[in-house]
Amino acid sequence: MKSDVPAEHAAFITDGILRSFPVPMSELPDLERAVMHLRDASKRIAPGQPLSRQPLSDLDVSVEAFIRGLDLGPATTDLFYTLVAWYSGADPHAVSVFGAIAQTAGFGHSPLGFYTGLSERFVGGAGVLLQRMIDTSGLEVRLDRLVTQVQQNERGVTVRTRSGEVINAESCVMAIPTNVLRQVEFSPQLDPRKTELLAEDHLGRAYKGSFLVRNIPRRPFTLGSGKLHSLILGYECEDDTCIMIAFGDDKSLSNPLSREEAEAAVREFFPEAEVLAVDAHDWCADPLFRGGYRIDPPGQAIEFVRVMNAPEGRVVFAGTDLDDSVWRNWIDGAINSGGVAADKISETLSRTRSAR
Ligand SMILES: Cc1cc2nc3c(=O)[nH]c(=O)nc-3n(C[C@H](O)[C@H](O)[C@H](O)COP(=O)(O)OP(=O)(O)OC[C@H]3O[C@@H](n4cnc5c(N)ncnc54)[C@H](O)[C@@H]3O)c2cc1C
Repeated sequence: MKSDVPAEHAAFITDGILRSFPVPMSELPDLERAVMHLRDASKRIAPGQPLSRQPLSDLDVSVEAFIRGLDLGPATTDLFYTLVAWYSGADPHAVSVFGAIAQTAGFGHSPLGFYTGLSERFVGGAGVLLQRMIDTSGLEVRLDRLVTQVQQNERGVTVRTRSGEVINAESCVMAIPTNVLRQVEFSPQLDPRKTELLAEDHLGRAYKGSFLVRNIPRRPFTLGSGKLHSLILGYECEDDTCIMIAFGDDKSLSNPLSREEAEAAVREFFPEAEVLAVDAHDWCADPLFRGGYRIDPPGQAIEFVRVMNAPEGRVVFAGTDLDDSVWRNWIDGAINSGGVAADKISETLSRTRSAR
């Protein structure tokens, strides 16, 4: 892991105004109330315990319900919505605030932790981690097989792919993004509550682009309700350019690779900025994902995880979308969920084998 240098110049857009501090001085008490409220709520969460087993359903509410009663000024209100938008890559008015609270708990009950966490990256890129996991697991990896059907009976599971390949196994872990799970035909059918929750796309529409930028202040950081939610420093190059990591949603840029649109978005924070190149993946347009990491509406953030973690006979579900920890939506969440799924499979196998 490599931790980047701290930011030296910050720009914020709140309540429609570009600022060097997130709120006007008159709203400092509001900012304190908002930060304390988030921290206090996060303190109710035991980060090491599965979230769905904790009495937290009253925190699975909209942002509006969560901050109601705090009497926040317009800039602080906007800042709070922006933080949730940044975390979720979704419309902050539509989502449950629970993920942002759980996230705060994960970072040692620190409302600032999200920003600090995003400044750490794998040396050599995440592909290095993936390759190491493959190399050390002893697993056989078969790429380019689109699973279309999963059938099970008392003897085992049969998985079929679009190209007609058939794989028989004693058990199966389904770890595909939850927006595309409904495209797989399960026999027997899934529990009706799972089918119901999987019937529509979730709200997560995260955009994360890498912008090669020139003419911006040294080591910058931005947060605000502009086209983008945030920009953080990725890499300082040896010439006068740097790579900025841009966070937004599917409305930030109409074309995720447009240099012109990226430049206009960065200029909202730094008017002199020049964007020289853009790289990004369109997760929402990709048929294997149909969106970013899973973001639920109020009332479903805990319920979804609880329902999806219940095994269906020899088939169990995994992936960061249904991770039952504070690291849901992160790589750590995917790894955690994989460990939990492995334990469930072991239990299923020992039960079915001893019944023979
Ligand atoms: C924009 C964005 C930014 C992010 N930033 C960070 C970050 O900074 N730090 C962090 O820790 N995490 C980040 N994440 C989250 C991280 O990428 C995920 O947590 C992680 O990749 C989830 O792993 P997974 O194995 O659960 O699912 P995925 O990585 O989504 O893997 C699911 C796999 O299933 C495959 N699949 C789909 N349909 C089928 C099918 N029918 N048959 C067979 N295979 C299929 C897909 O091709 C894919 O390979 C980000 C995610 C997004 C979208």
